[in-house]
This record gives sequence, structure tokens and C-alpha cells, in this order.
Amino acid sequence: MSEAAQPTLFERIIARQIPSTVVYEDNDYIAIQDIAPKAPVHLLVIPKRMTTRLDEIEDAAEMGRLWLTAVKVAQGRLQDYRLVVNIGRGGGQEVFHTHIHILGGWDGGSPVGFGG
Ligand code: AMP
Repeated sequence: MSEAAQPTLFERIIARQIPSTVVYEDNDYIAIQDIAPKAPVHLLVIPKRMTTRLDEIEDAAEMGRLWLTAVKVAQGRLQDYRLVVNIGRGGGQEVFHTHIHILGGWDGGSPVGFGG
């Protein structure tokens, strides 16, 4: 008998088993504030359908809807911003449930460059 997969951190957040600050939600996506912000505004856009990493998504419409949702959430809050996806441990991914980071709110100052 195979062991049931443990729900991911983000599945538990979606199920409201772990508290978070939800800034957007629809049937397919949720956006929350990152608990350890790396920018003045740091949000996470998370598809409710679980994949462990972005490159597991093969359907173009599903991929497009995820990015469109991230842009919609960002545009409602920020003039300029950065969208980031960490893919795999070597890419900096820590939570293995696909998500897009929205980073912004530097207020005229420049954000750090890549690797900075
Ligand atoms: P990544 O490194 O791309 O997997 O990003 C995971 C992000 O999840 C990090 O920026 C963490 O700060 C964030 N995070 C971890 N736990 C929580 C939590 N309970 N609520 C909100 N964000 C979290």
C-alpha cells in the first residue's frame, strides 16, 4: 500500500489549515503575502491544481492563465514589478508547489540585479 502524499504547504494554506494573508482568490488560483518578504511588496501566486514546479505544466492555456493571473494581481497593486519563478532546488525553489513571486514596491529605488 502506498503512503498518501502529504499535502504541500501551499495546499494547506489554500485549505485554510495554515493562516496566511490572502490578497486574491478565484476558483483556480490564490495569491498571498510572502511570510518572509524579499521586497517591500512580495506576493505569491499559487495555482490550486498542484504541480511541484512550473515546468511540469504542459498545457499552454494553463500556463497562460497562471501568468495572466500573476500579471492581474500585480497590476492591481504595483506600477512596476518583477515576476520570478524558482525552479528546482538548484534554482532556489524551497516550496515544491508551483508559484510565481511578485516583487515590487521599491518606490523609485532600483531593485537588486540578478544574483545581487
Ligand atoms: P521558493 O523559494 O520559490 O520555493 O519560494 C517559497 C516562498 O514561500 C519563500 O519566499 C518563503 O518565504 C515563502 N513562504 C514559506 N512559508 C510561507 C508561509 N507559511 N506563508 C507565506 N509564504 C511562505
